[in-house]
Amino acid sequence: MTQLSRRALLTGAAALAASPALASAPLAGKQAPGYYRYKLGDFELTQLADGAATFAMPDNFVANVPKDKALAEAARNFIAGPGQIRVPFSPVLINTGSKLVLIDTGYGPNIGPVVGHLPASLAAAGITPDQIDTVVISHLHPDHINGLKTKDGGLAFPKAEIMMPENDWKFWMSDENAAKANDPVNKAYFANTRKVLSDLTGKVTMYTPGKEVVSGITAIDTAGHTPGHCSFAVASGKSSMFVQCDVTNIPAFFLSHPDWHVIYDHDANQAERTRRKFYDMVAKEKSLIVGYHFPFPCLGHVEKVGKNYRLIPVGWSDML
Ligand SMILES: [Zn+2]
Repeated sequence: MTQLSRRALLTGAAALAASPALASAPLAGKQAPGYYRYKLGDFELTQLADGAATFAMPDNFVANVPKDKALAEAARNFIAGPGQIRVPFSPVLINTGSKLVLIDTGYGPNIGPVVGHLPASLAAAGITPDQIDTVVISHLHPDHINGLKTKDGGLAFPKAEIMMPENDWKFWMSDENAAKANDPVNKAYFANTRKVLSDLTGKVTMYTPGKEVVSGITAIDTAGHTPGHCSFAVASGKSSMFVQCDVTNIPAFFLSHPDWHVIYDHDANQAERTRRKFYDMVAKEKSLIVGYHFPFPCLGHVEKVGKNYRLIPVGWSDML
């Protein structure tokens, strides 16, 4: 009888390693580009990995929960190493049959090696940047807008119309608001919007909640994370789903505990109300949702559990 034990497994591994019959191949040493396709009615959608940041959890990452409690939850969910959290970044591409629409753009090429992989993931999915007709930005945080630009400051999607949530643009591009910012996170956000977006003033199209940004893709007001944060309802034929963008960051924290407030929420109480309203809706409708910061491929359904929620991830399928 096979003994299933750590010792037996290690002995087996040692035997394999010693086997002269096994050919060796060089280690890749890096992650593969990430994309994942799925269908919604007649639309074809592709999740695109921009990368994921693993970092020591800042003291106030969950602003209203003691650090040790948040880290215990991270450990219970095997999010990353001791004391760490991991945040992935994954834009979504929607091919409506007549338009190729990218929602959010990742961190761009100037931040560092673990992010900025959207161009590689797009290339792996067989898409060239100049094929993209429309880029829709959900809100003006760096991990969503910086990929609009190439390393030399040019347009990453040269032929695309760029659509911005009007209320977020007004907030983040206001010199008056920038002058009032007094915490380091917001100061950095205002500096970044100026750096990335100033030369696009007058060249972008504004949208407001309720607007169908592209036929079949409608903006929804999910303010709180930022003043003009928008999510999207996507519908084709009888099928529909929601692109939640940053209604929550790490789902094991903020979807499972909607009363936990992430440091990046601009108005934490409004963000919590938005989370509850949004997840009540998708739980009731049993809707498919996709989360920009969810573990890849970022798709799932939501179940209501008491006053909280549970994410049920959708696994890989080889059928569209
Ligand atoms: Zn984000």
